[in-house]
This record gives sequence, structure tokens and C-alpha cells, in this order.
Amino acid sequence: MDLKDHIREISDFPKPGILFYDISTLLAHADAWQVTMGRMAKAARAYQPDVIAGIESRGFLVAAPLALKLGCGFIMVRKRGKLPGGTVKHTYQLEYGEDTVEIQDNAIEPGQRVIVVDDLLATGGTFGASVELLRKVGAEVCAAACIIELGFLKGRDKIDVPVHALMTYD
Ligand code: AMP
Repeated sequence: MDLKDHIREISDFPKPGILFYDISTLLAHADAWQVTMGRMAKAARAYQPDVIAGIESRGFLVAAPLALKLGCGFIMVRKRGKLPGGTVKHTYQLEYGEDTVEIQDNAIEPGQRVIVVDDLLATGGTFGASVELLRKVGAEVCAAACIIELGFLKGRDKIDVPVHALMTYD
């Protein structure tokens, strides 16, 4: 099955000049979603992870069922200020300004093997920051996984773990 048939491309969202790759049509199609999660699980299982980390917010939609399929725990990498209790933060540079990702300080046991998951890899800033954040709390980050990679942006060059994408746009 060609999963690209289930991705909707929307021009000028969220701002002019951006082509947005919408996964909601993939999520809404029962067979395509099953195939997607089966392929994600196949790639992820090889790393024998203990924990799957989802990146807010669409990364949660992929990471949580992946964790269930693999029999792993699921943890959340969130935007600043959303998580209760003790947290650890990592701030990273954007083209204009900066952003912060945050995780609960008890999210993992030191040395646990973690795969970090999002819906889409663009410039790699979000994945790169999430890998650094997970390392701050003691994770051994063994891979990054996503459904879509925008290959022309060369985001994987910013990520120093193996990157798996189910489809690439060049
Ligand atoms: P980046 O940090 O540049 O790799 O951006 C990745 C994050 O932004 C992911 O969480 C994506 O959901 C979102 N994103 C960036 N570009 C797009 C796009 N063209 N279509 C859909 N989501 C995008």
C-alpha cells in the first residue's frame, strides 16, 4: 500500500508558502492506519526499546499505539509549562527566536532505551532538541521515527541517532 495516497497536502497552512502534510486522512482510514502502525512497529522493534517517547502533539498519536504494539511504556515530550511535578527543560534555536521542550524528571529510569517519535521530520530542530532532552534525563536514545520526512530540508543531519521515516518527500 502506498501510504502517500492517504496524506493530504494543504497549501499555505499555517502560513503562506508552507505546504502542510496532513496525517488526519491517514488516521481516519482504518486499513492505512493499521499498515502505518505495522510498518512503524517493524522498524522500531529492531532497536529493542524500553520506552517510546512521543513529541507533542501529533507525535503522541503515533507514539502511544506504537508503545502498545511493542509492549513498551509511553512518555511525553511536551511544550513548556504543560507537565505537572518536577520537569527538565531543553531550549533550542529556531530560525527566529527559540523554543523549549520539557519532560517529567521521573519519566524514565537511567539507561533505558528510548525511541523518540513524531509525525513529521522537517528541519530536524524538534527531533534534535527532544533527543538532547531525553539524554538529560538519562535516556539511551536508540532511534528517531516518523511517518513523513521532508528530505530536501536535510533535517536528519541534525539528529545523531538512526532516523526511520515511512515516506520521504524530496
Ligand atoms: P522541525 O522541527 O522543523 O523538524 O518541524 C517538525 C515539527 O513541525 C513536527 O512536529 C511537525 O508536526 C511540524 N511540521 C513542520 N513542517 C510541517 C509540514 N510541512 N507539515 C506538517 N507538519 C509540519
